[in-house]
This record gives sequence, C-alpha cells and structure tokens, in this order.
Amino acid sequence: MTEILDALLVGVLVLDEDDRPVLANAAVREMGLVRQRAGSTVDEAHTIVRTLAGQVRRSGVTRVVELDLPRITHGDPLGVNVRAVALDGGRVAIEATDVTEAHRVARVRRDFVANVSHELKTPVGALQLLAEALLDATDKDPAAAIRFAERIKHESSRLGRLVSELLELSRLQGAEPLPELEPVDVDKITAEVLDRTKTPASAKEIEVIFEGVRGLTVYGNENQLVTAVVNLVENAIAYSPESTRVTVTTSASEDGFVEIAVADQGIGIEPRDLDRIFERFYRADRARSRATGGTGLGLAIVKHISTNHGGWVTVTSTVGVGSTFTLRLPSRPPEGTLALPPSVEIGGAP
Ligand code: ADP
Repeated sequence: MTEILDALLVGVLVLDEDDRPVLANAAVREMGLVRQRAGSTVDEAHTIVRTLAGQVRRSGVTRVVELDLPRITHGDPLGVNVRAVALDGGRVAIEATDVTEAHRVARVRRDFVANVSHELKTPVGALQLLAEALLDATDKDPAAAIRFAERIKHESSRLGRLVSELLELSRLQGAEPLPELEPVDVDKITAEVLDRTKTPASAKEIEVIFEGVRGLTVYGNENQLVTAVVNLVENAIAYSPESTRVTVTTSASEDGFVEIAVADQGIGIEPRDLDRIFERFYRADRARSRATGGTGLGLAIVKHISTNHGGWVTVTSTVGVGSTFTLRLPSRPPEGTLALPPSVEIGGAP
C-alpha cells in the first residue's frame, strides 16, 4: 500500500481528529506539506493544511484551495492545489497536486502582457506629444515642424514594427500551425537577406559580404529563415560603427547541420548580458536600441525560428571587438516528424 501511494505524483495525506498525520505519501512530504521539526521524529502537517482540515472538519464541506508556498530552499514558490474531504471520526483526507509549472507559465504570461503594454505605451505617448508640438509649430516655426514630423515618422514606424514583430512572435509560439518544412536553397536566403538589408547597410557605409560554401540546402521554411538571418544582419549593422564590415559565412557540418554565421566588428556584448539577449524585450543598451528603432524582439524571434526548425542559435562576443551569431539548422527532415506531445515524454522516475 505504501509503495503504491509513494509511486503517485499526487500528494496523499490523512489527518486524525487532532491533526496528526496518520497517512502521508512521499509526494506530500516532498511538497513540504508534512514535515518533522528539527530534533523531532513526529510528523507534523503544514499550518495551512491544518487550518484547511479544521474548516472542513467543522463544516463537513469539501474544500479546494490553490496556494503558492514559499520554498525554504530556493526557486519559484511551490504551487499546490489542495483538496480536503471530511471523513468519519474527525479525520480529514487531503489530496495535493503540484501546479508550480502552471503557475510559472501564468506568471510569465502576466509579465509579458505587462511588458507589451509598457512597450506600446511609450511610443504612443511620444506620438501624442509630437503631434501636439507639430500643431503648435506649424505656423511659427516650419523648421521645427519638419523635425517633429520626422520624429512622428520614426516613432510610428517603430510602433508598426513592434506590432508586426509581436504578431510574428505569437505565430511562432504556436498560435498557428508550423508551416510546411521543405528543402530551402541557402544561397537564395543569403541573396534575399542582402537585398533586404541594403538600405540600413549603405546608410552606415557598412559592407555586408558573403563567404563560405555555396549550394547548401537546409530543411525549413524559407520566409522564416530569411526573417531570422535578416534580424541578425540588421542587428550587426545597428550595433556597429560606420564603415565596418558584416560577414555572413555559410558552412556544413558532418552531423547534418548547416551553419549560417553573422559576424560584425561592432560594440560587442558584455558577458552578463549574453545569456539574456534572447529574452523578449531584453536589451543590453536600452538607449541605443531605442535610437536604432529596436523593439527588443528580434533575437527572441530568431531563437523561436531556430528551435522550431530543430536547430539553435549561439553567440560569442567580445566587447569593443564584435559579435558572431551562429544559426545551426538541419539539412535533412527531422527523424520521426510526428513527435509525441511533451506530456507523454516524462520517461522514468519523476
Ligand atoms: P533590439 O530590437 O533591441 O535590437 P534584439 O532582440 O534584436 O532587440 O536584441 C536584443 C539586444 O541584444 C539588443 O538590444 C542589443 O543590446 C543586443 N544585441 C543584439 N545583436 C547585437 C550585436 N550584433 N552586437 C551587439 N549587441 C547586440
């Protein structure tokens, strides 16, 4: 019986009429709902569990609560869904499910919504101010009026890009089914990238050059792959001084991957920022990102595209010397395309 209860992921606990645990499985102990005080060998139920048991015992009504319990050690709070049922003789049966992951996902979603609202509010506020200034200046100061109109153009195109990148990101995150993956000519991707980045490159007299192996094929979606490489080249241009060089190198690895590396001679990235730049809205240099019209979403999009393709993206960088972003993409269809949903991939012991 103990063995069976201990094999369950759900916590099982029975308290007697004095709130003493008479049955407690491994899961309920792991969740910290039953503990032994230091120096004691007597099991004790968590205060919150005892309070809940008391209510249920008095009212005879089954109760369900969902809690976030701070962990003694570290990490996210433990999310638990606790259900308590009154049994005869004042005993109470308690069932506890770990919902930490669901709570974490909900938290990330809330943070994201807050971030998006903030990111949208800033350019909208700027547009309002600029429009008022423009109205004011129209008769009095035509030169200033032109400057305000140009700022309006800049801010509104940033806003437009933000909205379209948000849509792109939500598509990539599974709001829509993945597009058909098919063999894509890497030379076609690089040619398209060159075409799309011509304007920002020539504005800073930056030369974008292609090196490496020609005639390679990757397995994926052309549009998405072009978007990913364009984002990397646009960043390379944005975070480099004028008259420098951006090199896009293509190569094939023996284990069935194609690498597309984008190297710049730019400002570089501090080691402490390297891990975080792929997060949505993370910018190492907020002021510069704003000045270049950055949205903080470009690299998050690149990361999603590479993982959706069964590949990944890496970065190496030296401050003041430059950065290299490398996309690794499969050159053949993934084996077993119809992967099992993640929920059945739990394998051995939890
Ligand atoms: P942004 O729109 O701000 O450029 P990204 O998601 O594309 O957003 O990039 C996130 C941050 O990573 C940037 O704000 C910048 O600080 C840093 N970054 C990205 N690419 C480079 C690069 N090539 N050189 C230096 N810093 C970079």
